[in-house]
Amino acid sequence: MNDSHKIIIAIDGFSGCGKSTTAKRVAKELNYIYIDTGAMYRAVTLYFYRQEVDINNDSAIQTALQNIEIRFEYEAATQKNVTILNGEAVEDEIRQMHISERVSGVSALPAVREAMVAQQRQMGAGKGIVMDGRDIGTNVFPNAELKVFMQADVQIRAERRQKELQAKGQEVALQKIADNLSERDHLDSTRIQNPLRKAEDAHIIDTTHLTIEEQSQQIVDLALAVESN
Ligand code: C5P
Repeated sequence: MNDSHKIIIAIDGFSGCGKSTTAKRVAKELNYIYIDTGAMYRAVTLYFYRQEVDINNDSAIQTALQNIEIRFEYEAATQKNVTILNGEAVEDEIRQMHISERVSGVSALPAVREAMVAQQRQMGAGKGIVMDGRDIGTNVFPNAELKVFMQADVQIRAERRQKELQAKGQEVALQKIADNLSERDHLDSTRIQNPLRKAEDAHIIDTTHLTIEEQSQQIVDLALAVESN
């Protein structure tokens, strides 16, 4: 099938539902580009954390944003796309708890959202993308041809996240992870600008009892149906 059939696939949902793992698989299967918008907010949060940017000081936020350059790069050694913040690979650090604990506060800042959303729209301008986040179907690409909203039981999400962290050698208590997921869901859903919510035309996928393969296949099937229309 030629590129003219390519669409934008927006995947939103609660923290730890497997959005990014699923989105990556869908992108690979369809030969699309995957964009992890959560990684962008995490990279901004890492920069703010390291530079001790005062999130109550608008001009400090503006200056910081002007000094942040985020891109994704394919790393041959790991065969993965990694997040690059001002030339430095930060993929591992942005997934750690000290960033997870701060990211929803930083991502609620209107100036941060404006800067990231502008970049995300540019990245998706060519279609053929799978973008995951919290406001993709509602705000970044409200006209996306396919929207998916993912949800799952919080205990299951915490267990999955704990295994992921363990695989990277990080031991974090289950309750701490569950609390972080619930807190982020709450902050992300109640912030003023572009809160997390299901777009009216999004397909709901509850991943509580699904494997990554099953949830990815559901989205691929939906995408192929839209592409062929
Ligand atoms: O997807 P991930 O869990 O890595 O996202 C980290 C955080 O980034 C979310 O909890 C949310 O606060 C923020 N985020 C956002 N909008 C997006 C993607 C992520 O506010 N589109």
